[in-house]
Amino acid sequence: MSSAEKPATAGQTETWYTETLHHDLRTAYRSRKVLFDARIDHQHLVIFDGGRFGKVMMLDGVTQLTTSDEFIYHEMLSHVPILAHGAVQDVLVIGGGDGGIAGEVFKHEGVRRLTMVEIDQGVVDFSKTHLPEVSRGAFDDPRFELVIRDGRDFVAETDQRYDLIVVDSTDPIGPGEVLFTEGFYRDCRRILKPGGVVVTQNGVPFFQAAELEQTIRFFSSIFADATCFLAAVPTYVGGFMALGWGTDNPGLRSVSVETVGKRFADAQIETRYYTPELHHAAFALPRFIADIVTKGRGGRGG
Ligand code: SAM
Repeated sequence: MSSAEKPATAGQTETWYTETLHHDLRTAYRSRKVLFDARIDHQHLVIFDGGRFGKVMMLDGVTQLTTSDEFIYHEMLSHVPILAHGAVQDVLVIGGGDGGIAGEVFKHEGVRRLTMVEIDQGVVDFSKTHLPEVSRGAFDDPRFELVIRDGRDFVAETDQRYDLIVVDSTDPIGPGEVLFTEGFYRDCRRILKPGGVVVTQNGVPFFQAAELEQTIRFFSSIFADATCFLAAVPTYVGGFMALGWGTDNPGLRSVSVETVGKRFADAQIETRYYTPELHHAAFALPRFIADIVTKGRGGRGG
């Protein structure tokens, strides 16, 4: 859990926030100024000025984003599925209370509606106040719809259908745990339009291999194509971050660089990490991650 420690230094008090998501590893950020530090409805929310890391958001002691590198995660989790699909109109975001995914999705004019189902109103409220550079005006976009609810219940009961479902959740602890279950993924499949795709925040395989293997195991029993793609996010410590990919259209992830490149050019959107070449390369997995995916598929490669 995070702990605001004030190590004694000569005549100066500093605040450090320590993350202990991974066993045997602690990472600590020095806070220049605490912007928010309190329990909200379901979680303990901290937002502080992390100096070179920009502003940092933590939930229950786990780093959610830093404004120094959030663009990497938000661009890849949004533009890869949208440009692979080519005709996304209706988007569902589960979690995502900081508005970063919505901010990237709304760069695509073809998107006509984004429903964000976030369990904690406080994450939205305090992100609006302290992290407007992350949501990039998304909360005021006429296409934006906010539902404050447990995403597990929403997908089980909604009669809406979506081309893209982005599970931008915390890790599988606390309220986020239900968003890594087979039942949740089956309900995501139920509300997905034909040819649609589900993408997930699936941790850093170097530390969280079991989570990725489990998602792939569930995905491969639900979808025709189950894999992950990768992004290198410096403040998600441990190397590549895995982004889960589930769809009944195996052709989606093999759309050519040329086709993705033309769609990207036509979209006329600005990015700082995403490129059509990187989109394609993101599905090329290092052997140890490919092995986790193969194991999750019950031994089937591909
Ligand atoms: N980018 C971050 C990461 O990779 O870990 C995730 C960011 S976003 C802040 C995660 C959001 O998931 C939080 O706002 C949290 O409140 C929300 N969340 C957690 N469990 C949820 C649930 N069961 N239903 C809806 N939202 C949930």
